[in-house]
Amino acid sequence: MMNMKSCKYNCVGIERDFECGKEVWLGSDYCVLHVDFPRNKDSIEYKELSVEKEKKLKEKAAKGDFNFEGAILEGIDFYQQPILMLNCRKAHIHGDVNFGGSVIYGEVRFSQSKICGHVNFSWTTINGDVYFNNAEIDGELNFSYSKKIKIADFGHIIVKKNVDFNHAEIGNYINFIGANIEGKFMLIDARVGGEAKFDGTKILGDAYFNRAKFNLNPDICIYNNFNRIKLFGDSYFPDIEVKVETGFVDSSFKSSGIFEGINKYGLSFEGARLKNTCFRNCDLSNVKFQNVIFENCELSTSKWENNIIPEYRAYLKARLDARTVADTYRRIRQSLQQEGAYDKAGKFYVKEMNMNKEVYREEEKWISWILYNILHYGTGYGENLGYIFFIFLVSWIIYIASVFSNPNNNLIIAVGSSLLSIFTALFVYVFARKISR
Ligand SMILES: [Zn+2]
Repeated sequence: MMNMKSCKYNCVGIERDFECGKEVWLGSDYCVLHVDFPRNKDSIEYKELSVEKEKKLKEKAAKGDFNFEGAILEGIDFYQQPILMLNCRKAHIHGDVNFGGSVIYGEVRFSQSKICGHVNFSWTTINGDVYFNNAEIDGELNFSYSKKIKIADFGHIIVKKNVDFNHAEIGNYINFIGANIEGKFMLIDARVGGEAKFDGTKILGDAYFNRAKFNLNPDICIYNNFNRIKLFGDSYFPDIEVKVETGFVDSSFKSSGIFEGINKYGLSFEGARLKNTCFRNCDLSNVKFQNVIFENCELSTSKWENNIIPEYRAYLKARLDARTVADTYRRIRQSLQQEGAYDKAGKFYVKEMNMNKEVYREEEKWISWILYNILHYGTGYGENLGYIFFIFLVSWIIYIASVFSNPNNNLIIAVGSSLLSIFTALFVYVFARKISR
């Protein structure tokens, strides 16, 4: 046997280390698949190598061998071809990757790969996990109408154009943790059996989650994580379906957001910055808004059961302090007021003031506490015209009656008229407050 030079490519694998050891390409240290292209794209060397790489690709594929770990290729195009398993970990593809319509019987690995063109896996059937974690894609990433994927791991991926998962079917979780999407992100009508993992995902374009269904298999789900997600474009979440608790903690909606038909499962927006975000016809009874910054938001078409927020329930279980609950009521009340929904805002104002009263009670500030009680039971904190009108009317009748029966009693006149003037002032205050809105 001749002492043949063998390809130096090796890397530490996930399951096993990979060593190429194939015959090297013309005086280089690497084989035809692992050798890099010459700089000059128009050179004869480039074209020659390109032809050889393509030949090798087809040769391997014909044997059913789709292991292209670390390969440097111009492009991969296996349109509608059955494949056992596909490994392009750490590969560098100068053009497009196209497996559209293919059936893949095992896993697909593109972890840490660099792809300069588009990636197309639309209409594929993949009976395994898909790993694109830490990959970098200059073009679009398309998995629309793909089926049977188990785990879809796209953690820390960078995609320069659109990401399309419309109508995709994923059995286990979908992971875009720490991903950076510079185009649009689309998950319209997608069905995900497991959890949504979008912690810290950054989406520069518009985001579409319309009618996406998560947790179809609730046994494998604990928590959907959209915490710290940054949405720079318009974002759409109408009729998304979740079956376990879902966090949007510290998320940022920087342009606009739409939520519609939120169901009974709890969503948490704790510490989120919501700009131009509307909650249309949602049941917000289990939605947490602690420390949220509402900026031009819409909440008025949604409802809270008995106007009670989950923070208040946490307070009753001694899990949250009165001040935080009062503050959360204030944030919701101010948002409702900004919308002009004064009736609803008024109801939240009463709740807010009651929580303030609790704060005074806890801090033993009794004078403020007594004042708040008078305002509460006298006027419903200025929200209840009925109370004060009733008090005003009754005291007026008593006063007139007393003056009539004791016309020369100066004490009755002095005390009665001063009390009456206080009630009149309160009545006018509440009345003016109501109609000036
Ligand atoms: Zn090699």
